[in-house]
Amino acid sequence: DGEIDFKEEAKFSQHMKKGEAVSDFALSKTLAEQRQYLPIYSVREELLQVIRENQVIVVVGETGSGKTTQLTQYLHEDEYTINGVVGCTQPRRVAAMSVAKRVSEEMETELGDKVGYAIRFEDVTGPNTIIKYMTDGVLLRETLKDADLDKYRVIVMDEAHERSLSTDVLFGILKKVVARRRDFKLIVTSATLNAQKFSNFFGSVPIFHIPGRTFPVNILYSKTPCEDYVEGAVKQAMTIHITSPPGDILIFMTGQDEIEAACQSLAERMEQLVTSTTREVPKLLILPIYSQLPADLQAKIFQKAEDGTRKCIVATNIAETSLTVDGIYFVIDTGYGKMKVYNPKMGMDALQVFPVSRAAADQRAGRAGRTGPGTCYRLYTENAYLNEMLPSPVPEIQRTNLGNVVLLLKSLKINNLLDFDFMDPPPQENILNSMYQLWVLGALNNVGGLTELGWKMVEFPLDPPLAKMLLMGEQLGCLDEVLTIVSMLSVPSVFFRPKDRVEESEAAREKFFVQESDHLTLLYVYRQWKEHQYRGDWCNDHFLLVKSLRKAREVRSQLLDILKTLKIPLTTTGHNFDIVRKAICSAYFHNAARLKGVGEYVNCRNGMPCHLRPDSAIYGLGYTPEHVVYHELILTSKEYMQCVTAVEPHWLAELGPMFFSVKDSNTSMLEHKKKQKEEKTAMEMEMENLRKVQAEAEIE
Ligand code: ADP
Ligand code: MG
Repeated sequence: DGEIDFKEEAKFSQHMKKGEAVSDFALSKTLAEQRQYLPIYSVREELLQVIRENQVIVVVGETGSGKTTQLTQYLHEDEYTINGVVGCTQPRRVAAMSVAKRVSEEMETELGDKVGYAIRFEDVTGPNTIIKYMTDGVLLRETLKDADLDKYRVIVMDEAHERSLSTDVLFGILKKVVARRRDFKLIVTSATLNAQKFSNFFGSVPIFHIPGRTFPVNILYSKTPCEDYVEGAVKQAMTIHITSPPGDILIFMTGQDEIEAACQSLAERMEQLVTSTTREVPKLLILPIYSQLPADLQAKIFQKAEDGTRKCIVATNIAETSLTVDGIYFVIDTGYGKMKVYNPKMGMDALQVFPVSRAAADQRAGRAGRTGPGTCYRLYTENAYLNEMLPSPVPEIQRTNLGNVVLLLKSLKINNLLDFDFMDPPPQENILNSMYQLWVLGALNNVGGLTELGWKMVEFPLDPPLAKMLLMGEQLGCLDEVLTIVSMLSVPSVFFRPKDRVEESEAAREKFFVQESDHLTLLYVYRQWKEHQYRGDWCNDHFLLVKSLRKAREVRSQLLDILKTLKIPLTTTGHNFDIVRKAICSAYFHNAARLKGVGEYVNCRNGMPCHLRPDSAIYGLGYTPEHVVYHELILTSKEYMQCVTAVEPHWLAELGPMFFSVKDSNTSMLEHKKKQKEEKTAMEMEMENLRKVQAEAEIE
């Protein structure tokens, strides 16, 4: 209904006038003084002493105590950087970038000089870098080139409690490095969760606690379940703004769409409020934050608002532990978050909305008690909290596709994955499923070892299907084209669709359509951009996001470097797009679909329904093709195929014979199929053996 309770309006003017700015801290103190104010500073000496005396330690502390920004600097000050780099891993890209920037400021050095960061496709470090922040995925890839991580003197595995897939794999790998290198130190940091478990994993290593400095948080529950939590959160935020004393608001939502909707709705209500009253309405500074938001906009959440203005940050769970903003007095928790979950039936990962765990909910609430006593509004019932939420989140390794991990571990010569030292082993079903997919792609042979193709695929920081597409481009002589497509698929969408110019932007987009393929459409967009000298104004004129395109260009040049080191020459087919479509087809036969009705398809393997998106280039064909492959399936109101290409059925049979057959086959085809069938049986037997080995191991 969107009504605002105006009875309370009298209160706010009073509050806002008497209240002064909440936290002037960031402005009034120098960076050096701010560093000394952090809880970790009070235990600096003891902490360094424990590190000197132990090879591995676990550090536990509330978020905001200074673990991420200070530990690396303390290690530097204690001279660990004289003969090596201090590395610090983060599960999130945004955190790696933002923290590196902050630390470079504190150390008064250019970002990328003494302090730098590396995330996939972006390396902002140099020869002088002694403190390096990076995603855990980047460090994991570095172990491929240097199994002992010789350039690092210390690794801080930060945010280990998040239990991201790469962190979990790194645990097993770093345990070995610790055993091999006496001069190497490992520090695992964690919010309160899981510390004992981490300590046990490394052989009962010491746990160091940073004393907390937090204020009580009053927790209020919704009396009834909230039907529309976006609406609910917006209303609550407005009520707080109108009735409560100064203090910033932090709202937790699940993703970009919701965040944008909430921000827009907040802005509209503020406008309504301003026009409907003669009173002076205090300003509300509405700030979204999510991982795809451009970095300059992300940085805004740390800026101090003008006096008399209240900040309202609308965030994904990135603000749960990775980023800490001071001055938050009110938290609104919708109780939901997005999680990547592997669906074995569909054979794919899907980002799905789930209720968060109790640990995560408590973490969210805690964000309100960092600057003073705060309040947390939970938009769910106490009963849901107590009886429906899981106590702690399920580690990613137990719920996602392991294709990349399997490929990586295989290339580290860890042949029996079921033997790998996982802190919490993934379900064997997931390992076997991922192995099967890799085998189908041709990366694994019948006995589960890496094939020549598999060895090459490992070199690329890409999901296995995209790596396969590249290498198939090499074989088919269309590498140049496929390279561009893979790069475009690795960045956020290049199409800009502003809400107030929908028709215009759609018309602009349609001009780029290559009718039989969204993939080829991406290729065409890139080629056109190149033809127009990679110009920004040209992008604006055509409703293309120049940032995404530039990023794609960067990714492209990095993949090109890898191809060069592998001595793979760039080939092109010019305008023979059929060959390019065939290369695309080779990567995606697990995502092949057959026509069922208008715009309606079913997955060829499992019969899952999947739909053409209304903005797919395929509609331009004037008819819908019998067979298509797609990049991924997005679950919203329907299962939508994202990025679709029409394919010839005989390509499917030729490239993925274990799945598909051609009806009118001749003898040689029959023989071919027989051979394929034998191979499939051999692989299945191998899988069965693995299963048995695992079963025995479990009995022991
Ligand atoms: P922890 O890792 O223990 O959660 P951090 O080291 O991330 O703590 O944060 C310590 C302090 O540094 C926090 O109070 C936070 O507000 C501040 N801080 C961290 N990153 C930034 C940034 N990019 N800009 C401004 N302040 C920051
Ligand atoms: Mg941190």
